[in-house]
Amino acid sequence: MDRLALVVPCYNEEAVMKISSEALRGVLEDLIRKKKIAEDSFVLFVDDGSKDRTWELIEEEHRLHSNVKGLKLAGNVGHQFALTAGLITARDCSDVTVSIDADLQDDVAVIEEMIDKFHEGNDIVYGVRKDRSSDTFFKRFTAQSFYKLMAMMGVKTVYNHADFRLMSRRAVEQFSKYRETNLFLRGMMPLIGYQTDCVYYERKERVAGESKYPLKKMLALAFNGISSFSVKPISLITTLGIGIIVLSFLAAVYALWSYFTGRVTAGWTSLILSIWFLGGVQLVSIGLIGQYIGKIYIEVKQRPRYNIETFLDERESSENKEQ
Ligand code: UDP
Ligand code: MG
Repeated sequence: MDRLALVVPCYNEEAVMKISSEALRGVLEDLIRKKKIAEDSFVLFVDDGSKDRTWELIEEEHRLHSNVKGLKLAGNVGHQFALTAGLITARDCSDVTVSIDADLQDDVAVIEEMIDKFHEGNDIVYGVRKDRSSDTFFKRFTAQSFYKLMAMMGVKTVYNHADFRLMSRRAVEQFSKYRETNLFLRGMMPLIGYQTDCVYYERKERVAGESKYPLKKMLALAFNGISSFSVKPISLITTLGIGIIVLSFLAAVYALWSYFTGRVTAGWTSLILSIWFLGGVQLVSIGLIGQYIGKIYIEVKQRPRYNIETFLDERESSENKEQ
């Protein structure tokens, strides 16, 4: 039987800790009763340097319930890092993890479906929101633009999936080999490459407390997502430069025509020609330097170059099998 770890990053979540712990323990007990997970499965709360009573509440839950573990980070490092800390800690004492927010916006009822899909052989199961009706128009609009922009920039992400996801132990293992510091988990998961599937759910309102993701943090996450996964913006500079050089030839035709029809002040023609042409040349040069920087950037990440899924090595002899 597989040992499940529910990994929950918490930042200033004193308002939801009790409710959250109860709901998640309920999920564990239900799955244990249905014999889908091992009896020593647990919830791991990661306190991301909260300034309120979150950690005391986690300690209390741990004291009262044997299936609650707690991990306290030394300061606030942000959701993505807190989650990573939790996953890597849980990796060594579990077979499968499910990451979920403390505010219970994600539907705990689909965890069972995730486990089923895990048993069917999927290493990563993404929780995907069915619709965004519970969001404000603004949040919906910004989120959708973000997914579109990501796709345009060539970053693979799962549409409408946040960080509610199941990962097998070997998926976490593989993930921990991505040693980059600019974390954007949603973009990293598809790179792992194991078999994946999705479950669909409706995202609810927060049970209590307030969102810890103000617009500023959301924009930072979006920018990080693009800049950590794509060097396309650099290619755009080159393309723009080439475009401007082409335009400079058109400008040249116009400037020379004006010159010969004698409708210009002295010096205008040479000035216009130089500005356009040199502008284009400069952009292309910056783009070119950028291409090299882009390569250096990709190299310094030292991402694994491939992930092995299976290795059919020596065959077990048939006698051995029958034993
Ligand atoms: N969170 C965290 N560190 C932070 C900010 C948020 O660990 O610096 C946690 C937070 O406690 C919650 C999850 O990340 O469990 C998602 O945050 P929130 O629900 O505020 O985001 P929203 O759902 O509003 O996008
Ligand atoms: Mg939330």
